[in-house]
Amino acid sequence: MRALRLLEWKSEPLLTEVDEPTPGPGQVVVRIGGAGACHSDLHLMDEFEAGVVPWNPPFTLGHENAGWVHTLGAGVTGLEVGQPVAVYGPWGCGVCARCRLGIDPYCENPAGAPVPGGGGGLGLDGGMAEYELVPDARHIVPLPDGLDPVRAAPLTDAGLTPYHAIRRSWPKLPPGSWAVVIGVGGLGHVGVQILKATTAARVIAVDTRPEALRLAEEYGADLTLLSGAETADEIRRITGRGADVVLDFVGADPTLRLGAAVARTVGDLTIVGIAGGTLPVSYFSVPYEVSIQTTYWGSRPELIEVLDLGARGLVQPKVTTFSLDEANTAYQRLREGSLEGRAVVVP
Ligand SMILES: [Zn+2]
Ligand SMILES: [Zn+2]
Repeated sequence: MRALRLLEWKSEPLLTEVDEPTPGPGQVVVRIGGAGACHSDLHLMDEFEAGVVPWNPPFTLGHENAGWVHTLGAGVTGLEVGQPVAVYGPWGCGVCARCRLGIDPYCENPAGAPVPGGGGGLGLDGGMAEYELVPDARHIVPLPDGLDPVRAAPLTDAGLTPYHAIRRSWPKLPPGSWAVVIGVGGLGHVGVQILKATTAARVIAVDTRPEALRLAEEYGADLTLLSGAETADEIRRITGRGADVVLDFVGADPTLRLGAAVARTVGDLTIVGIAGGTLPVSYFSVPYEVSIQTTYWGSRPELIEVLDLGARGLVQPKVTTFSLDEANTAYQRLREGSLEGRAVVVP
């Protein structure tokens, strides 16, 4: 079969021919219907090197996958060949306290995982191929009626990651509250939809690109602001007292500064983007009781919830499809910032 593989750090992935996987006991092979192209894949190709993460190339890219059950390994029950499914992307050890709660990205026994701190497309072969080997049937989540694999694939990361970040802040988003979304790309535009679908907060979207703000508006943002020197003052003026929750989908120095400048007392500033910026925190530098946290991906129960939102049309990532031959074009457009919403590779 054909697969888009990262063969070494700091290189362009190559479309190559590899053997079709066969499932061992307890494993499942999924015929891929859609594999999302994630901004973090660009970090893998452009910046990562040996020692940054506990795994190395070669592996097939694609950590945001959905399709149909293709073959079942010995002992797998409860799934049917041909059934539409999503693949839960972070693969932990399955037995530690975090994994038992379905929070595999925070697995506390990475040495017991199929790959430490990774998953398919992150150290092991992912979904930018005709088939993906999923090492444990517990990572397979059946799709609810009304959701096809192309629309489901981005929900497993571009949907699940903002959903997790927003869900933990629900108590701070009652009617009358304000949420600020910084960065309306692949995750941010879904974040806007999730805020509107699951909270009564008013949503302000901030980006440097006018077309990203048009997308935010289309998906329900109450206000959009082109980021500039005045943005923090503008948000303070509009909200009157600051934002109850700020979600930074970029995570660079200027966006973190903006987030801290607009957060309300007792608010949340959640860093989702992995640009790696830093924010000095001291007693006097942020409003009282502001909680600053990072989040990574989401839990298996949350994936079930976000797929439900997707099936009901409440959360629908904007998708541009590409063939496997065009996958590198998709990444190039992501790199240029010329992509609206999410690129999904359909093998
Ligand atoms: Zn991702
Ligand atoms: Zn674990």
